[in-house]
Amino acid sequence: MPIAATNLTDRVLATIDAAAAEIVAFTSELIRIPTINPPGERYPECAEAIGRRLKACGFDVAYHPAEGRPEHTASHPRVNVVGVRRGRSDRPLVHLNGHFDVVPAGEGWTIDPFAGIVKDGRIYGRGACDMKAGLACAVYAAEAIRRAGIELNGSIEVSGTVDEESGGFAGVAWLAERGHINASRTDFVIIPEPLYVDRICIGHRGVYWFEVTTRGRIAHGSMPFHGVNAVEHMAILIDRMRRDLAPALARRTTAMPVVPAGARHATLNINGIAGGQPVGGIQTPCVADVCRAVFDRRFLLEEEFDAARAEIVQLLDRLAASERDFRYELKDLMVVHPVRTPLDSPLIAVLDRSLKKVLGRSGGLVASPGTYDHKHVTRIGGVTHCVAYGPGVLDLAHQPDEWCAVDDVINATKVIALALLELAGAST
Ligand SMILES: [Zn+2]
Repeated sequence: MPIAATNLTDRVLATIDAAAAEIVAFTSELIRIPTINPPGERYPECAEAIGRRLKACGFDVAYHPAEGRPEHTASHPRVNVVGVRRGRSDRPLVHLNGHFDVVPAGEGWTIDPFAGIVKDGRIYGRGACDMKAGLACAVYAAEAIRRAGIELNGSIEVSGTVDEESGGFAGVAWLAERGHINASRTDFVIIPEPLYVDRICIGHRGVYWFEVTTRGRIAHGSMPFHGVNAVEHMAILIDRMRRDLAPALARRTTAMPVVPAGARHATLNINGIAGGQPVGGIQTPCVADVCRAVFDRRFLLEEEFDAARAEIVQLLDRLAASERDFRYELKDLMVVHPVRTPLDSPLIAVLDRSLKKVLGRSGGLVASPGTYDHKHVTRIGGVTHCVAYGPGVLDLAHQPDEWCAVDDVINATKVIALALLELAGAST
């Protein structure tokens, strides 16, 4: 006998409230496995913790070590986990994906970053917000539907993947390359990254990482005029980037709703620099003959990658023309093109409706200042209906004393569960 949709909704929401302590405990359990990346620690253990939970929630579970990837080594194996729970049919298939790697804890913590402490309505720890809470939401959104006794028409998949923080090549990219996340079988993908509990994230800016090497000429440090100092040439380049390029980038604005608003402009960051003798080593008086720096240029959907790169080349060529003995090499390290969910995607409409039911409001659409696994889902897997939606405040990601509000975790679980009901189709 069919039951009214509101009835299904109420049952699922009540089930999630009843499971709140379990959802929080599972988040803490994941935080206590320090899956620090780099270098990629304790991945198999975390994949198994997620796999065990998925199995207990009625999923068929498979582990996918990233065979063939150079970063998949004996000391740091890259193991992904995928659980599938079939409904009455295979389609529509809704895939929930979360990465379980976390960035290093870094300095400045006032609590143990890997204890999974819960206090004052917050779950604390490295990865609490980015994005072990999101993974717990994914698992329990699916589980709540089962506990409410609802059989879906379509199917649900939940994956826990590695290396998002370092590009996701052994994680979501690897799964997408092998057809596990692919438009031929996957209809919708939701990634519960921490982009505010009332917002739907529709994509991200592009990334261009490049390395510049300046080459000088070694000479005795007491007679620097006999040499060419590569560090000084790098300093000139950085100065030009600050004086000429940065203001031009700041004037470019994307129409995508990137948050925070400061990231609606094109940006450039210096990731690192090394030149001359290793500082801290034994010093000899020499003019630095080589200097290397790595730069992180974030480009907008409205900018073309080729134009963004050409702008860097032009700047370098101008210096080569104006500065005596300025010699450089430019090496592309990584290019990620921007992605955007089609605005008429049913995923957006369904999540928007679910937000209004759960929170009484929807904060609307946002886009991420940084990239996440959306790029692989769409560019490799060909799945266009992909969004990020999950608990947590983006600004807390990668910070000391990272936390996620328990209320956010429960609400995001509810929103995702209601979206699953609609997307996969539910009856009793
Ligand atoms: Zn993340």
